[in-house]
Amino acid sequence: MTLEELDRSYLWHPFTPMREWLAEPPLVIERAEGNELIDTEGRRYLDGVSSLWVNLHGHAHPAINAAIAEQLAKVAHSTLLGLASTPSILLAEKLVALAPPGLTRVFFSDSGSTSVEVALKIAFQFQQLRGIAGRVRFLALRHAYHGDTIGSVSLGGIDTFHRVFQPLLFHTHHINPTIDELHQAFASHGNELAAFVLEPLVQGAAGMLLSPPGFLREARSLCHKHGVLLVADEVATGFGRTGTMFACQQEGVTPDLLALAKGLSGGYLPVAATMATEEVFRQFLGLPEERLTFFHGHSFGGNALGCAAALASLEIFEREQTLANLPHKIAALRARLGEKISPLPHVFEIRQKGLMVGIELRHSGSRPYSAEEAIGARVCRIVRRHRVILRPLGSVVVLMPPLSITADQIDHLVDATAAAIAEATSETSPARSAPLPQPSQYHTVPAPLRGIFLVGTDTGVGKTTVGVGLLALARARGLTPVPFKPVETGAAPEPEDALRLRSAAGRGDLAREIICPYAFPPPVAPALAAEQASTRLTLAGIVAAAHRAAMHGDFLLVESAGGVLSPYSEDLTAADLAAALGLPLLLIARNALGTINHTALAIAELRRRHLPLTGVLFVDTTAVSTPDRAHNPRLVRALTGVRVLGTLPFLPVPTPDGLAAALRLNLDVDVLLPSLS
Ligand SMILES: *Cc1c(COP(=O)(O)O)cnc(C)c1O
Repeated sequence: MTLEELDRSYLWHPFTPMREWLAEPPLVIERAEGNELIDTEGRRYLDGVSSLWVNLHGHAHPAINAAIAEQLAKVAHSTLLGLASTPSILLAEKLVALAPPGLTRVFFSDSGSTSVEVALKIAFQFQQLRGIAGRVRFLALRHAYHGDTIGSVSLGGIDTFHRVFQPLLFHTHHINPTIDELHQAFASHGNELAAFVLEPLVQGAAGMLLSPPGFLREARSLCHKHGVLLVADEVATGFGRTGTMFACQQEGVTPDLLALAKGLSGGYLPVAATMATEEVFRQFLGLPEERLTFFHGHSFGGNALGCAAALASLEIFEREQTLANLPHKIAALRARLGEKISPLPHVFEIRQKGLMVGIELRHSGSRPYSAEEAIGARVCRIVRRHRVILRPLGSVVVLMPPLSITADQIDHLVDATAAAIAEATSETSPARSAPLPQPSQYHTVPAPLRGIFLVGTDTGVGKTTVGVGLLALARARGLTPVPFKPVETGAAPEPEDALRLRSAAGRGDLAREIICPYAFPPPVAPALAAEQASTRLTLAGIVAAAHRAAMHGDFLLVESAGGVLSPYSEDLTAADLAAALGLPLLLIARNALGTINHTALAIAELRRRHLPLTGVLFVDTTAVSTPDRAHNPRLVRALTGVRVLGTLPFLPVPTPDGLAAALRLNLDVDVLLPSLS
């Protein structure tokens, strides 16, 4: 068999849909030189993503090769459990000298995931040892990626990677990287947090998302104030990628724990380190019977060959003046991207920090590419014909060349990428018609919420009843649902519907204000009730409240007021809110005479606004059957072409469990709730 056939017979590739892999002959790399990978046919490819973000100084660098060979002649590996070793000592000394001041202890492991896992466990145990009860949760950024072990996956928020493992994970609070949400999170959870874990400046695997300037410094100061440890995951950003040795240095921040891997060995061998301050370390000093030991360690932690390679890589930084050479490379890359990539249709936004680049592609009119279109993968397949290796993140094309990339190679990398994007995007779509939206200077995360938006054809059609049933179902499926009813009128004195939703969700832990930020006593439309209370409901205010509520769980159920065009203010309707939240909609209709017209009108308006309607659900709101009931769903379906999910029968005693069971029995609930299995 050829190598290609053997690969397809015996290998299982990481993060790879294997059915597609098996359908095409793989590219087999045999050697490499400098910034180029060479395949079995002798073809050379520019390593445009540093062999998955690890390589720094190029392949087969003579100094690193020599350091490994020299160490190999002495010893390849000895354990750090109960023994010390020369290369690990020298590397630790070097790391302490280079890292932000105050990080004085180095714990070695062997991958980015383990370096984060170690940081999590140290932070957790540190809080226990300090004797402060209840600091058992972590805060992380939305769309976070910190590795693939269960602890680091628990911090994660990338749906495609992490959703399937949900039942195995511990609960983590997530926020968007905004100063506002940061303050909110510390105000609500400051005293239950062991640590805040984040990638400083750039969220790599999230799609090269940039955090706003000052965010890291603010996080540092809030962590201090609340006794929460700050864990910086610089697995991707470390070792020059963002232009400085570490990203934290750009905001003058020393985290309490720093996770390092990927670039640490220059991309040669699996070495990782978790660095800690003396304050953290001291907590673990004590007599054996005090049980202060950190019981964690990997067989190959502090491996001698890996440490020797890492040491050689760090010496290259000095000898080749690697950091001093970066600014003009970064500027050249920025200029070339602006010239060749920016003008292309379908380039929605270019996000660059140092030599880390994400090029987000969207259809014209900024409509996102679907996962099925696999636009990023298509670009990367085409760019190989131009002799460049890239690896995308969904519809984001990533460029992350080795720090040793030359001026000519920067031009080739960008030109080849531009050609591939142009070809891949012209395959599917006609030329751009609408003007492209202006890329924002700092990308604020669009924060896709997960959940559903309930809207009625009218008031009193059974929205809350359906909400109660769906929340009970979501809970039974292991989700942590959060109900959100932004405004309730007729709240005299309490917003009864919101409280019913809260109880069905089993979220007695959430304050009423989180679930229902605006409650007004008069039983009138929200716009009028707000007016009478001399308040004005704004879209920004309600959207911010929705995102705050969403932080408390993993499935947001929004119940809007009344019908599609029910007003929250003179210029704000339920439909506007639905558009701003971006959740799939469920239209709820009263199964009674008159519903066909109401439902068809509501659907027409949702269509006009291009809102994502999942389907229509009819509710028998009374026990009295009318002759039209049996036919309404069919006629609505025929008139509008919209999917009718079913009819919820009238329950004299509508308990959450009873409603959940009735929903399960009468409609396909899988289209409404994320599946967990
Ligand atoms: C890649 C990555 C990890 C995981 O590192 P592995 O070595 O693949 O386990 C963790 N955190 C960040 C920020 C990463 O980019």
